Amino acid sequence: MRAMVWDGTGALKERDLPDPEPGPGEVRLVVRACGICRTDLHLIDGDLPPGGLPRVPGHEIVGVIDRLGPGVVDLSLGQRVGVGWLAHSCRRCPYCLAGHENLCDRPAFTGYTRDGGFATLAVAEARYVYPLDGIDLADTVVAPLLCAGLIGWRSLVMAGPHRKLGLYGFGAAGHIILQAARWQGAEVFVFTRPGDLAAQEFALTLGAAWAGSSEEPPPEPLDAAILYAPVGALVPAALAAVRKGGRVVCAGIHMSDIPAFPYTLLWGERQLVSVANLTRADALDFLRVVPLAGIRPEVTSYPLSQANRAIQDLRAGQVRGAAVLVP
Ligand SMILES: [Zn+2]
Ligand SMILES: [Zn+2]
Repeated sequence: MRAMVWDGTGALKERDLPDPEPGPGEVRLVVRACGICRTDLHLIDGDLPPGGLPRVPGHEIVGVIDRLGPGVVDLSLGQRVGVGWLAHSCRRCPYCLAGHENLCDRPAFTGYTRDGGFATLAVAEARYVYPLDGIDLADTVVAPLLCAGLIGWRSLVMAGPHRKLGLYGFGAAGHIILQAARWQGAEVFVFTRPGDLAAQEFALTLGAAWAGSSEEPPPEPLDAAILYAPVGALVPAALAAVRKGGRVVCAGIHMSDIPAFPYTLLWGERQLVSVANLTRADALDFLRVVPLAGIRPEVTSYPLSQANRAIQDLRAGQVRGAAVLVP
């Protein structure tokens, strides 16, 4: 197979690798599209503990099953499916036994501790493969739903009941979750990098009630806020933006250090929580919501071999919505 490989230094390298074969309980996909997530950038930047090298990144995979490993009965050849970040859970640790597989002590992650979808073929554990039968969108448009959408959805649920919701960072996850929150009836306030008028304009066209700089306070107090930007300095800003009893959810896997802040920002029963990974139930819930809410990610597609250019554009904030690789 053809793949873009992370070998621990520099840019991704284009390589021919042996075709992977599915083991027991696994399936193989012909990859049709794979989104690029902020986590892929954290991997390349060394922000995460090493997950094994060389590695094929990519955990927003849309593909068609072309091989079934032994014991797989509930998926079929030719079926269009998606694969996301959580690739495996142990089923035995206290978290798994309590239904919190997202917190598993011995998990595996697609494109991080296992090879992912920046390739023409990918192998995945069947338990963590999601049928996409109900979603009538192009493969490239579906791809960002598999992480930005799924973990975004978990963070939206974690935000608790709200009428006024703040979103800090308006990339792949932000623009998908704005659509989900609007469908739920929330008013959404979007905070972007200072001066990013294009992102603010984009948020308003998707129905944001207000869009402005992350250095500005919102025009009225918020019930909850979700941080998608990996910027620790936004935590005190978001706490200052929510009302008493409000909640701030940190949705990224990595964030720069949070600066010291006065206790008055947390006082008043404000809550600060993080979201880690996702469960299969999150995935199935969100994939049911997508057609009901009419969620439609905006994507910029790049050929697989242009992965490094796509990553550069993403870093530079030049991608509107989500970046997706097409083999
Ligand atoms: Zn991701
Ligand atoms: Zn476990």
